[in-house]
Amino acid sequence: MITDWFWLLLPVAAASGWWLARRGLPEDEDAREPSLDRYLEGVRHLLDDRTDDALQTFIQMVEVDHDTFETHVILGRLFRRRGEVDRAIRIHQNLVARPTLEPKKRAQALCELGEDFLLAGVLDRAENVFRELMDSPHLAVEALKGLQHVYETQREWEKAIEVGVRLKAHEVPNEHLRIAHYHCELAREALDRDDLDEAATRAARASEEVPGLSRALLIQSEIAARQGRIADAIARGREALSRTPQLAPLLVPRLERLHQELEGEHRLARLEETLSALANDQGITMARIALMRLFRRTGRLEAALSELGVILSQRPVPTSGLLEAVRWMKVLPAVQEYSTEFAAFEKALSDQLGSQHLYQCVNCGYQGRAHVWQCPSCRRWDTLRGVDFDIDQTTEAAEQALISETGETG
Ligand SMILES: [Zn+2]
Repeated sequence: MITDWFWLLLPVAAASGWWLARRGLPEDEDAREPSLDRYLEGVRHLLDDRTDDALQTFIQMVEVDHDTFETHVILGRLFRRRGEVDRAIRIHQNLVARPTLEPKKRAQALCELGEDFLLAGVLDRAENVFRELMDSPHLAVEALKGLQHVYETQREWEKAIEVGVRLKAHEVPNEHLRIAHYHCELAREALDRDDLDEAATRAARASEEVPGLSRALLIQSEIAARQGRIADAIARGREALSRTPQLAPLLVPRLERLHQELEGEHRLARLEETLSALANDQGITMARIALMRLFRRTGRLEAALSELGVILSQRPVPTSGLLEAVRWMKVLPAVQEYSTEFAAFEKALSDQLGSQHLYQCVNCGYQGRAHVWQCPSCRRWDTLRGVDFDIDQTTEAAEQALISETGETG
C-alpha cells in the first residue's frame, strides 16, 4: 500500500524545497504556504491508509497551481489503476470545475475524466467528454482515440469510421487497418441480413483501405459462395490463406466445404490440388492433415502414410497431427489387440486438443479458442493467429516486420 503512494511524496518534497528557496524563507512551520500544509496533510492520510480523508483534503484544496495540478492528475490515475474509478472521477471532475485552470490543463483533466468514464463503462458520458475535446487544439488525438474506443465497444461502425478518418488526417499510424475492419464489420452485418450488394460494397471499401486484406477476401468468398460462384469463392479463400497462412484453422475447413459444393467428377482432384498447394508451397500443416484424410478416404494408403510421415517429422508436432496419427494407427490390423490402449491414447490427445488455445494475439499474447478479428485484450485488429501448427520461419519474420512497421502500441 505504502509503496503505491510513497513516490507521491517526491514531487511534494521537491515543491516544498522550491517554494522555500524561492521565497528565501527559513524552514520553519509557520512560513510555509497553507496549500502545501494541506497537501502534506493529504499525503499523511494516504500513508495512514485513510484514502477518503486524503481524497477530501485534496479536493478541498483551494488552489490547483502548476505544481499541484500534475500531482492531482497522477493521484487520479493511481486511483483509476487500482480500480477505484469513483475516486478518480471525483479528483478529475474537481480539476475540470476549477475556473482558473488554463485551457491546456483543463483539456488534460477532461481527457483523464474521459478515461475514467471509459473504465467505469459509462460510455455516453465518456463520449460527451471526448467529443468536447476532439476539436480543441490540445489532446485532439487522445480524445479521438477515446471516442474510437467508445464506438468500437458500442459497435457503432459508421461513427468509428468517421473518427478513424479524422485520426488518419492527424497521421496516426495503423488507422487504415482499423477503418478497413470497420467496413468489414458492416459487411458482416449486411451478410447477416442477406444484403449481398451492401456486403460487396463494404468489402471493396475495406480493400481500398488495405489492398489484399484477408478478411475482405473472406467476405468476397462468402458472397461468391452464396451466389453459387463456387470456383470464385475457392479462389478468394485460397488468396486469403496465401496472404495470411496463420488463419488456416479458419480457412482450411471452409475450403474443404466449398470443394464439396463444386459440381462435376473432378471435385476431389480439385480439392487435392488445393490442399497439396497449401501444404507443400506454404507449409500449412492443417492443409497437410486434411490432405492425408482425403488420401485415406479415397483408399490411397501409401500417399496418406507419406503425408503422416511429414507431419510427424515436424518439431513441435502439432497435437492435431498426433491425434490423426493415433486415429490412423488404431485401424491398422497389427494394433487391433491394443485397441483399448489406443482408444485411451486417442481420448487423451483429443482432450488436450479440446482444452488448448487455438489462437494467440501476436501483439499482446492473449490466447483464446475462438477466432475474433479484434483482440479483446489489446484491442488491435487482425492480430490473432492459429497456434496449433507450424509457422513457417519466413512467414513469422514477415509478420514481425508488419507489426514493427505499423508501429501501433495501443
Ligand atoms: Zn492482443
